[in-house]
This record gives sequence, structure tokens and C-alpha cells, in this order.
Amino acid sequence: MKKGTVYLIGAGPGDPGLITVRGRECIALADVVVYDYLANGRLLQNARPDAELIYAGKIGGAHNHEQWQINSLLVEKALAGKTVARLKGGDPFIFGRGGEECEALLAAGISFEIVPGVTAGVGAAAYAGIPLTHRHVTTSVAFITGHEHPDKDISEIDWEKLSTGSGTLVFYMGIKNLASIAANLVKHGRQPETPVALVRWGTRPEQQVLEGTLADIAAKAQKAAFKAPAITIVGEVVRLRDKIRWFDNRPLFGKRIMVTRSADQAGEFGDLLAAAGADVIELPTIRLVAPDSDAQLDNAIRELSSFQWTIFTSINAVQFFFARLACLGLDARAFASCRICAVGPKTAAALEARGIIADLVPADYKAEGVVKEFSAMEMNGSRVLFPRADRARDVIPAALDKMGAIVAAPIAYRNIIPEALPEEALQALEEKRVDCITFTSSSTADNLAAMLGENRFLHLLQGVTVAAIGPITAATCRELGLQVHIEPEKYTLSDMTAAIVSYFNN
Ligand code: SAH
Repeated sequence: MKKGTVYLIGAGPGDPGLITVRGRECIALADVVVYDYLANGRLLQNARPDAELIYAGKIGGAHNHEQWQINSLLVEKALAGKTVARLKGGDPFIFGRGGEECEALLAAGISFEIVPGVTAGVGAAAYAGIPLTHRHVTTSVAFITGHEHPDKDISEIDWEKLSTGSGTLVFYMGIKNLASIAANLVKHGRQPETPVALVRWGTRPEQQVLEGTLADIAAKAQKAAFKAPAITIVGEVVRLRDKIRWFDNRPLFGKRIMVTRSADQAGEFGDLLAAAGADVIELPTIRLVAPDSDAQLDNAIRELSSFQWTIFTSINAVQFFFARLACLGLDARAFASCRICAVGPKTAAALEARGIIADLVPADYKAEGVVKEFSAMEMNGSRVLFPRADRARDVIPAALDKMGAIVAAPIAYRNIIPEALPEEALQALEEKRVDCITFTSSSTADNLAAMLGENRFLHLLQGVTVAAIGPITAATCRELGLQVHIEPEKYTLSDMTAAIVSYFNN
């Protein structure tokens, strides 16, 4: 049998965006992914759905798997012909025992490739706003293990040379031994006033930074119960954080915000919140699916040339509509004689991506805004197509009907309640770790209440700030017994993000 290849991949320090392009490609190639505690679990989403995922976690010093067991696992899988991705935190060759794994693979005649990663020292320093080297401040940097037992008779670390030999010192695994590290450095000539920063879970939304000096950092860390995993940065460069800090001072940093939209729609809103520094937790309360039968929509599409207007009130409607259009072998030209209204700029952008520029976007981005625009026009006898969700409000068809228009409102997609809610997200609610929950439509709130049951719904959301995208969603929240704290003036995701930012910063 042909032997498989092993890819030793640096996953980066935590932010899933910090893996390399090659690293991601190799994860996607793998039959087996063996991953560590420090590698962000979200990177596993790049694996094939049928890939075998094996956790080789190591927490602190307690090894779930001994290194030799990991080595033999890699060898065994590769000998069985599997392509293996070995995903390690940071960089495989910086305190990652990647070299040992290579030696084991070599001994078994297995080919391997190494994909470097952003090591924690580099990543955490960057996200703490501490340049590891800086002109006129320091010209060198050293990476050192802080794991060595302080009582070790003969240290492998030459403290005498190290203490003053390099401008910036970055210790990995050093939190337990912090007091002896600091004492050793001072004993061997480093000034006690030398600034020190501890960075825990660097590059992640839960990043914590503690600053001090060689003289007081150990006491401060103890007082704050500062724990691993953290790196310790020693040197004058630490002072630059005051000026250069950028990540952990963003307006929503440290806030856990829940997004309840459907999984395929959560991304855009999540990105906006994350850009403001929030830790985003997805709790999809909606699943969008095609209608039971395509007949209604297909008939309308075939008659598209007989309509004067088509109204789209969501990106979803655009997506599902165009999916059917394509299935029928048609494209944007089918709209040649029909004008198009988009409820807001996002829906208009979704149309534009499909080659259509909306003729009308109301000033007020909701159904009532659409009605207002049409009531200023002569609609008597006009044929209007309104592809809609199964549970949409009938504000638009009812109003157009009153204006004398002939409305066809086929169901383009259905909002259904997903089978289950993600455990991790529910746990965050149980443990009161969520700062804010966002509802971007009435059905997100209705569905969550239906899935949890009224008592549990109110219990889990007690004390959580509630943000609703607009007055209708807010009214639904209130009917369900919630107090609404945040309501943007305009009903867009960016206005909602801005409203959340201003709420938490006032
Ligand atoms: N190969 C890894 C290091 C593994 S040793 C790398 O290149 O980053 C484990 C140590 O790395 C931890 O004890 C801690 O000191 C450091 N570390 C890993 N991820 C970290 C993070 N996100 N923030 C701070 N330190 C981290």
C-alpha cells in the first residue's frame, strides 16, 4: 500500500485568520486531522466532512497523549495510506516538538511537509501592541522556554548570558515559574524596573494582558490569579503598548454577543461585530429551505414578462428566486420588461451581484417604506410579483391590493426551526457569559422562545442585554416578555452594530 503523507501544520496562535493559506489547504486535503489544545477548533471546519478528527490535546503539563503515542499515531495512520494533517498551535518548530515528530516519521520512511505558523510569541505580541524589536529600543529578541523546573540542578538555560544578552525576552510556558524567572533575570544583571507583559490567550477574543516590572510581576500575577496559556514578554519594548495597543481596546472587546440569524446569514453580522472587537457566538434559530413545491414560484418566473414590478424584501428572497431562475434555464434577462424594488441596500447589492440594478430602494428600509413609495405611484391594474418567505407579514401585498394592483406572492423559501441549538452557545447562556443577544427578525425571537420553551427562554436571557433590529422585532421581543435595550434608528446590520457599540460605551 502507498504510504500517506503527513503535514505538520502551524495553526497560529488562536485567531483562526492567522493560519497560512498552505495550512488551510493541507487541512482540507487530509483524511485524518490530529489537533492540539492550542490550535483553534474553528480551523477544523476546513477539514473534509468525512475526515477523522483526533484530539491530541495537551493541557498545561497534563498530557492526554504522551508524545510517543502521538508519534506512533501519525506513523500508523500514514502507513495505512492516509493523508494526515497534524495541526499544532503556533509554529510546529517553536516549542512544538515538531522536530521529534519528523524524526519518528523519518524512521518509518514516511514523507512529510512542514507548514510554518505564526508562533504565540509573535502573534500575542502583535495583538498586545508590543513590537518585539524597535529601533533605538532593542535590536534582538529571544524565545525561551519557561517550563524548565526552577529546582533543576543544572539549568539548560544560561541565565547569565540570557539576562542581558538579548533586548527582548519572550518566555513560553512560564507562568508557573514566573517568580523564579524574574528573580533569575534580576540576579544576572537585568534591571528590576524592566517592564514585563503577560499575554494570555493572545490573539483571541478573551486575550488578557497584565503589565508590571521584573520586580513586581510575579506578585501581580498571583494576585490576579493569572493563568496559562500565556507568554511573558520582558524588555523596554513593553512600554510601547501604551501607544500601539489596537486589539484589546476596541469598543466591543471582551463583550460576548450572540447572533441568532440562520447559519448562512450570521457571517456578515458576525464580521461587523467582530471588527468592533466582540466575541461572537452563533445561535442559529432559523434554517432557510426551499418551499415544499416549486410550482408557484416557477409559474411566476415563467410569466415574468407580464409583471410591471418585482419586489425583493431580503437577500434570501433574491437567493432562492435566482436559484429557481437558473433551474429553469433563465438568467437576469428574464427581468427585461419588469422594474425591480429592493427593500434596502443589502438586498440591492445582492441583486447587483446578479447583474440587476434596482429601480427603487425606499428611504425607509422595511415593508412600510416600500408601501410608501408605491402609494405615490399609479398602481391600479399593475401586476406586481412579490416572492416572499412563508411566514412573511402581508403588509406589502395587502397595501398593493388596496391600490388596485394585482399581486402574485409565491413562496420563495421557508423559515424553519432548526432541529437543535448548539450546546456550546446554550452553555454560554447558562453560565451567564453572554453580554448581549441580537434579534434581527421577529422569527429569530419567536423561534428561540419556541425551541427553549417560555420558562427556559426567559431564564436564560435574564440579565442579558437585548438588541432588536427594528420596531417590529422589538415588539415581538416584548410580547415574549423581554425588555429591549438596544434599537437602532435605521434597520441595517451596520446601524445595529453601531447602536450596540454606543450602548456598551455609554
Ligand atoms: N508551538 C507553539 C508553542 C507551544 S508551547 C507556538 O509556536 O506558539 C505552549 C505555550 O505557548 C503556552 O504555554 C504559552 O506560553 C504559549 N502560547 C500558545 N498559544 C498562546 C496564546 N494564544 N497566547 C499566549 N501564549 C500562548
